[in-house]
Amino acid sequence: MAIERTFSILKPDATRRNLTGAINAKIEGVGLRIVAQKRVHMTRAQAETFYAVHKERPFYGELVDQMSAEPVVVQVLEGENAIKAYRDIMGATNPEKADAGTIRKEYALSMGENSVHGSDAPETAAQEIAQWFSGNEIVG
Ligand code: ADP
Ligand code: MG
Repeated sequence: MAIERTFSILKPDATRRNLTGAINAKIEGVGLRIVAQKRVHMTRAQAETFYAVHKERPFYGELVDQMSAEPVVVQVLEGENAIKAYRDIMGATNPEKADAGTIRKEYALSMGENSVHGSDAPETAAQEIAQWFSGNEIVG
């Protein structure tokens, strides 16, 4: 099994409702280690860059507005098969379709306000980590 890193965001709906600890307990509970973490208020330009892959989608404007409206927590997670392990504990994008016990099933408010972001592949994980952290901010 490969030790991987993935990128995580605790979204505005999570910071607003004081859920960062509860969500990170779930993340740590599946054996993932938080090796970098900071609270940031994204600028609109940073949110646009982060979600550029979705810029043609109808929800892009709303997503960028929401992600830059309030603080978030950005973090790097490390562990065995971290990308999939984190996606599994996150649950489906649509919380109504998320499995029981997942973060989105328990905490998401809607498809848009779904509490967490997680990278979907090694290439995007590397890109997303590099947007938010320099090497010496990742401390294992
Ligand atoms: P995921 O976050 O599960 O990887 P996507 O990459 O497809 O999902 O979408 C990125 C984010 O855009 C979602 O987490 C959600 O906040 C928002 N989003 C996706 N689809 C919709 C939709 N149909 N309506 C509103 N917001 C959406
Ligand atoms: Mg995605």
